[in-house]
Amino acid sequence: MSLRELVKEELALSKDYSFKWLSEYVDNADISDRIGVIHVLANSREMTPAFRMQVAKVSARLTCVARWFQIPIEPNAHTILSKIYLIPCPDKRMAPDAIDAPISENDINGGFTYIRRSGKAPIIIVFRMEEFPKVLLHEMLHHSFLQSRMDPWQMDQIAELKRAFGITADMDLLPQEGVIETWAEVLQCFFVSEELGVPMETLLAEEKSNANRMARELLDRQKKLTGGLWHETTNAYAYIVFRSIFLNSLEEFMTLETPDQYTALLLKNAGLVNAHTSQRGSIRAGDNALALRMTRFGDF
Ligand SMILES: [Zn+2]
Repeated sequence: MSLRELVKEELALSKDYSFKWLSEYVDNADISDRIGVIHVLANSREMTPAFRMQVAKVSARLTCVARWFQIPIEPNAHTILSKIYLIPCPDKRMAPDAIDAPISENDINGGFTYIRRSGKAPIIIVFRMEEFPKVLLHEMLHHSFLQSRMDPWQMDQIAELKRAFGITADMDLLPQEGVIETWAEVLQCFFVSEELGVPMETLLAEEKSNANRMARELLDRQKKLTGGLWHETTNAYAYIVFRSIFLNSLEEFMTLETPDQYTALLLKNAGLVNAHTSQRGSIRAGDNALALRMTRFGDF
């Protein structure tokens, strides 16, 4: 089976990700190649020598992460390192213009992964150029003990988080996504720091300020909704608001392991994050554009 056929089959199985822009890109992609552990399906416009070098660098990082986080790496068909696919679409992450339109997968997600599935191997597909090095780290961490020790997250704790943060009762809330995203960003800063010789604290401080700005923008948006109640069809709230709380308590966050502990940290900060936010409105009147790019250094 060609790489294109395989990718199309996987995308078709995952109906949430059958975006028009993505299927068009896959149809027009004229290069398929393997660079390190990453299979790339791309348009030749994206396949520059600099891009190839970058993919090779990211491949080496993924191999390190697999070792550090005890993700199986034996060279056989059923380990995640043999099933990593990158489709570098140029489409950017943007929130819908209408303030009451829920943020969807199409607006923010950059990839997806299956950890376990019956009869098929686990797989990672990353389908945006924007921030692909960080997104690959995020998807890898779903295969690590960070993820397995968070499952299951008790329903009563989810309900408590929804009440504290003003989220509709019927929305799927996965706080795990905020935990995985925060760890992915810490690792991304670590690699960039090691490779470029920039202090990690400098990079993390920049990411924290970016995360706080995004959280303020999202919470401003939430305030304008009926009853201030948030609803979405993806994990934007966990990616943005919960991540901001975690980055603001990073030392404590990095010692936590269980859903109980993460829930306690989030609840302790629920009031603080709202008070902090009410100090300024960062979305100007008549301007609802909200870029959903997650990081400053996620492309490095
Ligand atoms: Zn995720």
